[in-house]
Amino acid sequence: MSKQVIVITGASRGIGAATAHLAAARGYAVCVNYVHNRSAAEQVVDAIRQAGGEALAVAGDVAVEADVLKLFQTVDAQLGKLAALVNNAGILERQMRVEEMDVARLQRVFTTNIVGSFLCAREAVRRMSTSLGGQGGAIVNLSSMAAKLGGPGEYVDYAASKGAIDAMTVGLAKEVADQGIRVNAVRPGVIYTDIHASGGEPGRVDRVKDTVPMQRGGSAEEVARAIMWLVSDEASYSTGTFIDVAGGR
Ligand code: NAP
Repeated sequence: MSKQVIVITGASRGIGAATAHLAAARGYAVCVNYVHNRSAAEQVVDAIRQAGGEALAVAGDVAVEADVLKLFQTVDAQLGKLAALVNNAGILERQMRVEEMDVARLQRVFTTNIVGSFLCAREAVRRMSTSLGGQGGAIVNLSSMAAKLGGPGEYVDYAASKGAIDAMTVGLAKEVADQGIRVNAVRPGVIYTDIHASGGEPGRVDRVKDTVPMQRGGSAEEVARAIMWLVSDEASYSTGTFIDVAGGR
């Protein structure tokens, strides 16, 4: 029997890479998408193959429609019929207050985090919807606890982009519920990945971890397990819902 196919955007590092490893271990053929870091993506693919799994690295910027179209066409041709999408690719920029933010930054953050997730979700729905000849499937979006906390003084723009992801999760879930597609989201708290260096503070998790009720940051693997539960049939009656993986934050 051929494997079920999953696309994980931004799977070369961090939460996406951990999710790729777990998905492969659970028997999925995994598309490891990345935007710049080809060698990191190839490392994820090599490790999956060495463990006996199936994976393919595909470059593509989720914020660029032509790249997204090509990404999904490559998956169609090289891996097969899509069963799941993890909308994981996301960015934040240097910590600053709203009054300092320029329009180019706002466009980068909103385009990558919001438009990118919409474009990938659209391509997934076009392939998975039972109304359009598909066999159903699952979409998991990466939101953030920032959607609830707001990111004051650091990145209100990023937090707002994740608020949009929350609304998209609820709305799209209702839109495609009768087409065999479940749409859910995970809201990580502070997780040890490279994203904090992108914000200009590589040690951010250790700085804020005492504000977390569980008194520690989380690992990418802890987030990946929640993502893959929502992807799996274990979550067969869950749609439009959220798992906070945030140590009680
Ligand atoms: P990360 O370590 O910074 O990794 C980002 C990944 O996304 C990399 O694989 C990167 O590819 C890829 N990427 C970035 N821009 C892209 C684009 N335009 N198109 C395609 N891929 C792109 O991030 P992370 O911490 O694992 O975060 C993953 C998701 O979880 C994000 O949506 C983030 O907002 C969310 N999240 C993270 C935390 C946290 O504390 N870490 C908390 C809440 C939510 P390259 O390697 O090619 O650059």
